[in-house]
Amino acid sequence: MGSEQIILIFTGSQHYAPLMADLHHQFSLQKLNTFGIAIKTAWFCRPSSLDSLTAILDRDEIRELPLLVIGEGSNILFTSDFKGVVINPGIKGIEVVEDKGEQLLIRVGAAENWDHWVHQATEKGWYGLENLSLIPGSVGAAPIQNIGAYGVELKESFAWLEAWDLQNKKMVKLDKQACKFGYRSSIFKNESPARYIITHVTFRLNRSPNLVLDYGKVRTAFAEAKGKSPGDLRKVIIQIRNSKLPDPAQFGNGGSFFKNPMVGRAIYNCIRVEHPDVPYYPDKENRVKIPAAWLIEKAGWKGHKVGNVGTWPSQPLVIVNYGGATGQEIYDFSEQIVEDVDRKFGVLLEREVKLI
Ligand SMILES: Cc1cc2nc3c(=O)[nH]c(=O)nc-3n(C[C@H](O)[C@H](O)[C@H](O)COP(=O)(O)OP(=O)(O)OC[C@H]3O[C@@H](n4cnc5c(N)ncnc54)[C@H](O)[C@@H]3O)c2cc1C
Repeated sequence: MGSEQIILIFTGSQHYAPLMADLHHQFSLQKLNTFGIAIKTAWFCRPSSLDSLTAILDRDEIRELPLLVIGEGSNILFTSDFKGVVINPGIKGIEVVEDKGEQLLIRVGAAENWDHWVHQATEKGWYGLENLSLIPGSVGAAPIQNIGAYGVELKESFAWLEAWDLQNKKMVKLDKQACKFGYRSSIFKNESPARYIITHVTFRLNRSPNLVLDYGKVRTAFAEAKGKSPGDLRKVIIQIRNSKLPDPAQFGNGGSFFKNPMVGRAIYNCIRVEHPDVPYYPDKENRVKIPAAWLIEKAGWKGHKVGNVGTWPSQPLVIVNYGGATGQEIYDFSEQIVEDVDRKFGVLLEREVKLI
C-alpha cells in the first residue's frame, strides 16, 4: 500500500494551518466491507475535516476519477476492484445544538458509529432511537436508505443533514422534506446518487420516552424481560437481533440483501390461491408488501448454500460469505434467487445492498 501526505498551508493568513489527509494508493477495502470481500481501491482517503475533504477533491489526480463515499461498508457489495477514489469521511463528534427541555437537537459527525451514537443517546436520556439499536454502519450513511428496524425509521428523529454538494461545490443543509425519505430510500438513492458527501446529521430527540413495541415479537420480549425504560428496550432489540442475524465479524454479510417487494393486488391474489398463508401488509395505494424472506424461503432458498455462499438458516433475506467467496459469486447467487422468485411468484426482488 503506497501512501502520500497532502499538506496544505494557507498563506496570507496570520496562522499557518497545515491540513493533512493521507491519500493511499492501491488500498485494501477488505476490512471496510462487512461481506469481507478482498478487493482494492485505486485511491483511498479518510478526511477528518471539511477542509481536508475539499483539499482532497481538488487534487489533480483525483478530480477526474470516479468517486465513491463509504462509511463502514455494511450495505455495499464489491464485485471487483474500484478504479477510482474512495472517500471515507472521518468527521466525528456529538454536540447538543439546542436544548428546549423536552426536545433537543443533537449534531453528530458522519464518522460516528451508528450503534455507539444510539448507546450514547439512550444513556444520556435522549430518546427516539432505541429500536434502531445495533444496526451496523456510520451515522453519515443512515439517511441514505432511511435506516429502519422494529417499527421505527431514521426519518422520525431526523432534523437535517449537512453535506458537501459535489455538483455545486459548496456545503448544503437538507431538511427532511428535501431528503424525500421513503421505505429504504431517499434522494441519495434515487434522484441524486453520488452527488452529496454527508458530513453531519442533526437529530431531534425527546426526554420523555415513547416506547414503540408494536412490531413482531418486541412487546412479548419486552414483557418477558420485565422491561420498563428505553434502555431496557434497547437491550431487548439487541437480544432479538443477535438471535436472528449473523454477526458480520464471524460471517460476512450485508444485512437484508433484498427489499420487501410491493406488489399489485392481482399478483398478491395469485400467490394467495396456492399459499393462503402468505403474510402481507397492505398500503394506502392498494398495493401489498410481501416479506422477501417469505418468498425466498418458499422458493426453496432458506439455508441453501452454493460453494462458500448461502442464505442464513434463520433469516433467508441475509446472504452470507461463509469464507473466501468473491463479490461476483455472491452476486451470481443473488441473481439465481431473483430469477427463481420471479419464475415462481412473478415478483421481481430489488437489491437493498449497493453493488459496486
Ligand atoms: C448484519 C446487518 C444488519 C443490518 N440491519 C439493518 C437494519 O435493520 N435496517 C437497515 O436499514 N439497514 C440494516 N443494515 C444495512 C446497513 O447497516 C445500513 O444501510 C447502514 O446505514 C450502512 O452504513 P455504512 O456506514 O456501513 O454505509 P456503507 O455500506 O459504507 O454505504 C452505504 C451507502 O451509503 C453511502 N454513504 C456512506 N456514507 C456516506 C456519506 N457520509 N455521505 C454520502 N453517502 C454515504 C455509500 O456510498 C453507499 O451508497 C444491516 C447491515 C448488516 C451487515
